[in-house]
Amino acid sequence: MNRNSTEILSSPIEYLKGVGPQRAILLRKELGIDTFQDLLELYPYRHLDKSQITSIADISPDTEFVQVAGYLGSLQILGTGNSKRLVSSVKDATGVLQLIWFQGISWMEKNLNPGFRYRVYGRVGFFNGLMQLTHPEMEAYDEVKGGLPLQPIYPSTEKLKARSLGGRQIAKLTQQLLSQLKEKDIPEFIPTTTVRKSGLMSRFEAFQSIHFPSSPQNYQCALFRLKFEELFFNQVRTRMIKTQRQKQSRGLIFGQVGRLFNDFYTKSLPFELTGAQKRVIREIRQDTARGHQMNRLLQGDVGSGKTMVALLTMLLAADNGYQSCLIAPTEILSNQHFINFQEMLKDLPVSVKLLTGSVKSAARRKILEELAYGSINIIIGTHAILEDPVLFKNLGLAIIDEQHRFGVAQRAKIWKKAVLPPHVLVMTATPIPRTLAMTAYNDLDYSVIDELPPGRQPVRTVKRYEYDRPKVMDFIKVEIKKGRQAYIIFPLIEESEKLDYENLMKGYENVKAYFPEPAYYISMVHGRQKTAIRETNMKRFVSGDTQIMVATTVIEVGVHVSNATVMLIESAEKFGLSQLHQLRGRVGRGADQSYCILLAGNKLGSEARERLKIMCETSDGFKIAEKDMEIRGPGDIAGTRQSGLLDFKLADIVRDREILQLAVQEAQDILNVDPELDLPDNNLLRQQLKQEKGKTPWSRIS
Ligand code: ADP
Ligand code: MG
Repeated sequence: MNRNSTEILSSPIEYLKGVGPQRAILLRKELGIDTFQDLLELYPYRHLDKSQITSIADISPDTEFVQVAGYLGSLQILGTGNSKRLVSSVKDATGVLQLIWFQGISWMEKNLNPGFRYRVYGRVGFFNGLMQLTHPEMEAYDEVKGGLPLQPIYPSTEKLKARSLGGRQIAKLTQQLLSQLKEKDIPEFIPTTTVRKSGLMSRFEAFQSIHFPSSPQNYQCALFRLKFEELFFNQVRTRMIKTQRQKQSRGLIFGQVGRLFNDFYTKSLPFELTGAQKRVIREIRQDTARGHQMNRLLQGDVGSGKTMVALLTMLLAADNGYQSCLIAPTEILSNQHFINFQEMLKDLPVSVKLLTGSVKSAARRKILEELAYGSINIIIGTHAILEDPVLFKNLGLAIIDEQHRFGVAQRAKIWKKAVLPPHVLVMTATPIPRTLAMTAYNDLDYSVIDELPPGRQPVRTVKRYEYDRPKVMDFIKVEIKKGRQAYIIFPLIEESEKLDYENLMKGYENVKAYFPEPAYYISMVHGRQKTAIRETNMKRFVSGDTQIMVATTVIEVGVHVSNATVMLIESAEKFGLSQLHQLRGRVGRGADQSYCILLAGNKLGSEARERLKIMCETSDGFKIAEKDMEIRGPGDIAGTRQSGLLDFKLADIVRDREILQLAVQEAQDILNVDPELDLPDNNLLRQQLKQEKGKTPWSRIS
């Protein structure tokens, strides 16, 4: 049978010489290796430079890994049961080093020859003050002659080692596999021009060299090539998904800018739009006029003015005869939007209504009727809007405030509410790092407001400790005396809601002691309150009846009190960077200088210290997001792990930013000329995309 390239690489691993059924099961279970290809893609995590042999006397206690060469001492089995261990030593001209194994003892005992010369490689550890190597890799000294200088070190597990599948054996299997592969088995699929332009090592050579490089430079070239390949592939794939989605989703056409939009724009707009707001509105207008469904993510830092973009887009929908909804994550925020919209639209013939969980049955029934009849143009509310009984006459636009990725299930709910899917605009104030936007979010249409309205003063941010508390409280008193208001935020830290609650109550009592009535009034807002009580407390703060708002992070998103100038964050070290940034965004919205005080515990971990430092240094949400991703890793940024779009084996979008940039450029150049990859030059790339099962929804692409 004439096997083609993919067939060889997709062969089950048990067919590789030296594996067999038993070890195949183990490889699958321990390392997820099913096929030849999987083994090929089990990359070494480091290489051991065999030319580097350390004298035992020169090993310093802070060396991590070391390779020594010398004569093996006698083997001794000590202890029984769980504490059973094999102990030996290696001796060179400068000293003796203890070796110890807890697993695979009988195999080691059988195969090691005391008195012979070995290369010994392992992690330096200490036991009873004595330096030793635990589970070192052993290699008879002679075997090495003529071998490559850089030996790959693979991940392995104790179970694998016990079955003679330690790092060394995996290296042997990989070598075996590589020796049996021909150039045609690992064909190039990146178009020739790109290979040449970007100076890429060939694919075949890259796989050889990532495992068995001839030199460190050779390894770097291979690494570069394979990282580029991953990122380039991600770019091509996500771009094609996006174009295809745009092409295939029929959508409503907002063909005209009409009276409502224009009247509002010329008569009621309370300020000049920023350049970024104008650009985004232009992008939305183009997107909604072309006959495909808009699926746009709008990203803009706290206070960048996303609400106005939402309002204008909703007027555009109304001008074209469509209803629209604005969905916010909390009732408080829904209310605020509602009041804000009502006020701004009071001179226009548009009907705006509010629908949340606490709208009572009679009023609710009326709203549902009006929605179905079509007399409501704009409905604002919580996810209550998505519930089944809510029917629209002709929903044309759904705007989701303060969310990252709007879930598939929720999207489906919106689609069900209209014959043609309404346009969707998802707005988020959690800045997405550029590199992440370019990879995990690349399949979405994406707009950024990267400019704040003029005249904003940056919030002055400081870190304070527990012993500064009295001073901090005095400072808040001074601000209140000037007529300003303050937030005091407590973290949700404990496992149990009850403990969180107690924690907050203690904090509240403490604040009350500093700010007694009747000189001061305090609002408290938290997730355990009945909505009505929360609303009342919130309203009292908004209206200025209370000067202090004690809260948990329920106020994190969206709420807007421009007279508030102090944001005090208790146990600030317990918050993540983006949360801190969001909270800080609650102040600095008016004309006065605002302050963010990060009150921290006395013992800070290095990560927490770093976070607080970043907060004090910058107020740029994008910079903070980049840092956040550097600290936590891209997988932890909301929503991306699930998206499955970031499962790079080698590339790291933080560290490999430059390679990403290159990949973005190349993918763009190719798809601009040949969007469907029809040209002969791109044929192999197209085939490769088709092969990537699961990753590319090719049914939607081909
Ligand atoms: P966010 O993007 O965080 O939702 P908002 O839409 O709530 O921000 O806007 C924050 C504040 O900035 C609001 O008071 C809003 O009226 C004001 N604002 C928005 N755009 C402008 C602008 N172009 N010029 C001046 N103020 C603006
Ligand atoms: Mg907002």
